[in-house]
Amino acid sequence: MSSTELSAKLFADASSVIPGGVNSPVRAFNSVGGTPRFITSAKGYWLTDADGNRYVDLVCSWGPMILGHAHPAVVEAVQRVVADGLSFGAPTPSESELAREIVDRVAPVERIRLVNSGTEATMSAIRLARGFTGRAKIVKFSGCYHGHSDALLADAGSGVATLGLPSSPGVTGAAAADTIVLPYNNVAAVEEIFAQFGAEIACVITEASPGNMGTVPPLPGFNAALRRITAAHGALLIIDEVMTGFRVSRSGWYGVDPVDADLFTFGKVMSGGLPAAAFGGTAEVMGKLAPLGPVYQAGTLSGNPVAMAAGLATLRAADDAAYAKLDANADRLAGLIGDALTEAGVAHQIPRAGNMFSVFFGGDPVTDFASAKATETWRFPAFFHALLDAGVYPPPSAYETWFVSTALDDDAFDRIAAALPGAARAAAEARAE
Ligand SMILES: *Cc1c(COP(=O)(O)O)cnc(C)c1O
Repeated sequence: MSSTELSAKLFADASSVIPGGVNSPVRAFNSVGGTPRFITSAKGYWLTDADGNRYVDLVCSWGPMILGHAHPAVVEAVQRVVADGLSFGAPTPSESELAREIVDRVAPVERIRLVNSGTEATMSAIRLARGFTGRAKIVKFSGCYHGHSDALLADAGSGVATLGLPSSPGVTGAAAADTIVLPYNNVAAVEEIFAQFGAEIACVITEASPGNMGTVPPLPGFNAALRRITAAHGALLIIDEVMTGFRVSRSGWYGVDPVDADLFTFGKVMSGGLPAAAFGGTAEVMGKLAPLGPVYQAGTLSGNPVAMAAGLATLRAADDAAYAKLDANADRLAGLIGDALTEAGVAHQIPRAGNMFSVFFGGDPVTDFASAKATETWRFPAFFHALLDAGVYPPPSAYETWFVSTALDDDAFDRIAAALPGAARAAAEARAE
């Protein structure tokens, strides 16, 4: 294996000024162990670390880099705008261009508000749903991640409806008290909670197709059932497409499973690797937002012109051919992984949501967070590190989705195919602690 000396040194340096050495916990490799690689450059499907090691990237910055890294059209668009100034604190034309691009792609979305992160998008969408309905309670699903705002970190686990308990110190009981957490893919649990609290529930928020407990797609009709139940009780439906939006199709998960939510949230792909995100919905609901209405929401850097340029260039390059390529790359990658694990005799499943997938070890079908946690996740670190040592960079957790880019080519797949048999054997030989 190649050296990781410089990454180790950079990690030690980082840890002396940044808690845990990272600015987002998963980057610390806590669930797989080992030295997080400090990346110094990336191009196409390649990531290069501080020690000069190169990896085929199967994380793609957790989704955004669908065209691969440093795509010429995106780089050129960003370079063109930076010379004209970085932020004005006044409206700019590119904000409406990006908003228009999103409105054109996702039919139920008539108005868009741009923000800086997915966390902000879902937090603001919840506030708007509460302001619109005049109700306090919200329903989320166990294992669905909607960013780290207080009310949405509540996750009381699976089982029957549990009235929110904070899942992170620092989230007060009061902040989480109005959050009801239900098991994913369980329509009966949603029906029951609405029978009990229907008139107090402002909204249901769900990942369009969850990718943050591993890839756990909705069972057929689940999102449609949420639409039916919320509408019957005068509650809003928020579909969080921060991960799936403009990744799994031109119109995100909406293009796969067209359920008309009242509000959608977007992030990741829509800003091409720079910090921007959005929430949007019907003109009626979005009309309650300041300055039109009383629900306050704002941002110094919202609609930043550099982020707009990266997002527009990315979305404009993400045409039908790009989505066909992403799907084909996901088929090929999942096929190679499945074959190698079968060959090594490791029971596994590779749930798919369009071109998103994850790798669970063990045979019992995963349909929610409880069943995801019941898989043989202890096999994952060995599998991960064998791939990493062979120059392939998978997500550093069993509960994360793998992301392909259009940049993957035959050489990339040759490298992956060469790495997989050893990784599959490592997974087979792993032992539970
Ligand atoms: C990544 C993600 C978020 C949070 O977005 P950030 O930009 O990291 O704040 C919210 N919802 C989903 C579904 C996500 O995947």
